[in-house]
Amino acid sequence: MTEHLRCPACYAHPLQSGEAGLSCAACKRTFPIDPSLGIVQFLAPEEAGSSKGNIQAWWGDLYRQLYEPTDRALTRESFAAKLALTEDLFRMRQMLPVVEMPLADLAGKQVLEIGPGGGAHSCLFAKYGAKVTALDITPPRAASTNRKLKLVGDGSGQAYQGDGENLPFRDAIFDIVYSNGVLHHSENTKRCLAEVFRVLKPGGKAVLMLYARHSAIFWCNIVPRGLFSGEMFRWPQAEWIGRVTEGKPKFGQTKNPYTRVYSEVELRRELHSFKIASLRKSSFQWDNFAIPRLTQFRNWVLKRMGHKAHPGGELVYGAPFVAETGRELSLGNYIGFAWNIVAEKAQ
Ligand SMILES: [Zn+2]
Repeated sequence: MTEHLRCPACYAHPLQSGEAGLSCAACKRTFPIDPSLGIVQFLAPEEAGSSKGNIQAWWGDLYRQLYEPTDRALTRESFAAKLALTEDLFRMRQMLPVVEMPLADLAGKQVLEIGPGGGAHSCLFAKYGAKVTALDITPPRAASTNRKLKLVGDGSGQAYQGDGENLPFRDAIFDIVYSNGVLHHSENTKRCLAEVFRVLKPGGKAVLMLYARHSAIFWCNIVPRGLFSGEMFRWPQAEWIGRVTEGKPKFGQTKNPYTRVYSEVELRRELHSFKIASLRKSSFQWDNFAIPRLTQFRNWVLKRMGHKAHPGGELVYGAPFVAETGRELSLGNYIGFAWNIVAEKAQ
């Protein structure tokens, strides 16, 4: 499936495919297959300390925290069972991959996922017959997605390591570009969105989740923590929000470099090239407030009410996950942290 690809350096295509990887006849650059990871690397691992190096370091750390333990022992059968549970959890949580993605209509569609993380979303689309391509800037995440794509359907799904700001794909080749909670962590989200637009076919759809500024998490958790830690006064907005979101490093020192949040006005401005077909807010839980031990308290209360942690969380959050209650889901429409977006490229 190399016909989708173009050289990220000189934009020539096609690329030549060989034993050791891909090469560009025009500029003579090579894009090797990393033998330990089994994937083509379009963006070589960057130096720690550079923006993209920090992104790779932080998201690689989180990969080791969340996905590596599960990844070690997957077989085709055990993965199919886990993926079915994850799909069930996505439905309970009314999430982007099952609400905005047209699963019943994916067969034969060319789908690109940017930032597949552990690969569960890409594999769900492959299960429904989509022709899946995935691209992640973090090498072990791209490799993890690639391994899992080989365990689903006809195994033709393909993941690459590369940069969302400079996609190694030709213009106008995907029916759907999907990216769930990823592009707001890029160094240059505007450039990523322009790239999404470029690789979509006319009439194609971007199905995106980006974080919402006017949400319980932002005003009642992120802002107070930014304020009391003093991070808010030391860094530009995307960087202090990054440092207080997504958790803490465990294997290295690098914190999450960037997180951006969008009001509806800001979102519509960023997506001005697209026609917004649908926009929905979701994702609120009672423990979104910055109060110590609130998560344990919520889980304790919900357990007493009969809500158990759902095992479908393992593939996407690294552990069973306590889904939202009906009240939380409906409040999520107003004060949730996720913008669920379908944005179309005109015919
Ligand atoms: Zn080239």
